[in-house]
Amino acid sequence: RPVVIPLSRHGIRRDHVSSAARRTCEGLQQAGFKAYVVGGAVRDLIAGIEPKDYDVATNATPDQVRGLFRRSRIIGRRFQIVHVMFGPETIEVSTFRAAHDEDTLKDEHGRVLRDNVWGNIADDAARRDFTVNALYYDPAAETVIDYHHGVADLKAKTLRMIGDPKTRYREDPVRMLRAMRLSAKLGLSLDPAVRAPIREMADLIENVPPARVFDEMLKLLFSGHAVECVKRLRADGLHHGLLPLLDVILEQPLGEKFVMLSLESTDDRIRAGKTTSPGFLFATLLWHEVLANWQARKAKAETPIPALHDAMDEVLDQQGEKLAITRRIAGDIKDIWALQPRFDKRSGKSPWRLVDQPRFRAGYDFLVLRAQSGEIPQELADWWTEFQDASHERRTAMLLTDT
Ligand code: ATP
Ligand code: MG
Repeated sequence: RPVVIPLSRHGIRRDHVSSAARRTCEGLQQAGFKAYVVGGAVRDLIAGIEPKDYDVATNATPDQVRGLFRRSRIIGRRFQIVHVMFGPETIEVSTFRAAHDEDTLKDEHGRVLRDNVWGNIADDAARRDFTVNALYYDPAAETVIDYHHGVADLKAKTLRMIGDPKTRYREDPVRMLRAMRLSAKLGLSLDPAVRAPIREMADLIENVPPARVFDEMLKLLFSGHAVECVKRLRADGLHHGLLPLLDVILEQPLGEKFVMLSLESTDDRIRAGKTTSPGFLFATLLWHEVLANWQARKAKAETPIPALHDAMDEVLDQQGEKLAITRRIAGDIKDIWALQPRFDKRSGKSPWRLVDQPRFRAGYDFLVLRAQSGEIPQELADWWTEFQDASHERRTAMLLTDT
């Protein structure tokens, strides 16, 4: 028996909800179906955070949903969902699903390989991961339907698993990463039962397809709370073997300060609503790998600039096997790295050409982080800060003489 929570206790008025989500629910309800806003959006609204996107859950089948909305399309083959479009917004509509039973296909570690059959709303609530993610908001009635005391947990700032955490992690180890990300984002503390098994179960993540882990890592790094997430991952022993990248980040003292500064600046930009680029962030995450590789090559008397390019390719190849860094992102990363030695040249025509480079800004931002982390002298970054905005006369006066 669910608890039906009134407006006075959850505080979400229907006009807080995006109009597209509201109209989707209205359309379904007018056709006689049940329809609720569900999951992260309800959680975020109660917590006073603007939802990123809206999901709707219904007892209508995908074909029935598709039939009700002119601008909609069915996505996915086995477990179909429907994208309903209103203006620029897309609402993801999914039919209530049940978890699994004894017959569900699992791998030898207990990971669920094929999920879900249709079910009712109670089944749908039970298959979700955390209690705060299993809330159903009805915009017409302005009520929240709560099967697992999620509203109370949210108010108590606790992240609690639905069911036995160990079993739920075995079914899907990515839930360990979600626990870190969601608790950091919402400022929740982990229920001890959610936290305790993570250290010993962390290795199960190795059995998850890398593309899925990478997706979750992207969400984590671009959540606006990356610094906090990474601290939590580390505190709970979840960074080992998770991704080659993350081991790299956290286990090299040289790079750590640099990487943390970079994560901080990414967090700041995201929270300020500014754009961020995966290329820039990954360029910082891997820079000290490149530096070490480059040093080794220079020590063997390789010519510096070609050696840098070989070092870049080698580091990207190693990461690329496991990381699925797209070609375009890899191109952005290399552009930023390749510009770095050019900041050392402060005489002749070179500085003038460099500031006119289309990638100058990214390269310069990267240089500033290197200076802040103590890798290079602050004076070099300051010089470029002044040079890029200086008048022609001032620039000429700033140039160093060739030695
Ligand atoms: P955000 O959108 O802020 O990243 P979210 O909780 O909405 O967080 P989504 O990945 O959008 O995350 O998932 C939507 C909902 O689907 C969740 O709120 C949860 O109810 C359910 N869900 C997502 N991933 C899992 C999972 N691995 N196991 C069980 N339920 C899940
Ligand atoms: Mg979501």
